[in-house]
Amino acid sequence: MVQQSWCVKIWGVRGSSPALGSNFLEYGGNTSCFSVDLGDALVVLDAGSGLMALGEQLMSKKRRRVDIFISHLHLDHVMGLFSFPLLYSRWAEIYLYGSPNTVRELAHLVEPPLWPIGLADCQAKVRLQEVRTDKPFSLARGAAPGLTVTALGGSHPGGCSYYRLDRDRRSLVYALDCELTGDAARRLTRFAGGTDLLIWDAAFAPGDLKPGWGHSTWEQGITLGQTAGAKRVLMTHYSTGYMDDFLREQEQLARQADSRVQFAREKMVIQL
Ligand SMILES: [Zn+2]
Ligand SMILES: [Zn+2]
Repeated sequence: MVQQSWCVKIWGVRGSSPALGSNFLEYGGNTSCFSVDLGDALVVLDAGSGLMALGEQLMSKKRRRVDIFISHLHLDHVMGLFSFPLLYSRWAEIYLYGSPNTVRELAHLVEPPLWPIGLADCQAKVRLQEVRTDKPFSLARGAAPGLTVTALGGSHPGGCSYYRLDRDRRSLVYALDCELTGDAARRLTRFAGGTDLLIWDAAFAPGDLKPGWGHSTWEQGITLGQTAGAKRVLMTHYSTGYMDDFLREQEQLARQADSRVQFAREKMVIQL
């Protein structure tokens, strides 16, 4: 059976905090959120502020179930959850995946005193799912048959999970918030081996890299993508202060180095 292609849509491209104002309109100002429509399931990667716009679209389509993978608990990756409209919809079913520590803390993040209502008291059916890193797993309750998800522990202050989706011969790797220290480059190269799309932490322009901050550059993404044999590399998680003019210059430099590279812009769609 020929499987439907995957539709990847970008809802948030910033790291650290949202960027507001006219200098951020071209690439976008929301923090990390990507959706992957597999036809029979909607997988979401991170719940940054971009999740709210995705939520509006899901409300209008009354899409019932959504499976959200959280990389880690830094606020730029979860801040969209609080106002995610599906949480307050009786018909919605939300699965939240993350490392054991992430899902445990997530329940405390979305509850008083930090937020008026807890996850367990929202109208939607919310299920927390711990992910394991030792072997691939499926979506909860047998959704999207044939899809496997693999998680890899990342190198980032406080820890982080990277995710790989595979079905038939299609794959995608989501690796945000990673610093290439120790054996991280070797492990990530193996993890991203031959993938169709590598979504990469390009928080810093090459000259701005700050050791110990837990991030990478687009230059490192190109090298890793080439070594791993990734077919395309999508740069994202830009530093909050990087304005459109600067990102346009950086994108041009990156594409001169490797024409398969793209810089993520909000609302951009990639078919796999
Ligand atoms: Zn981040
Ligand atoms: Zn982080």
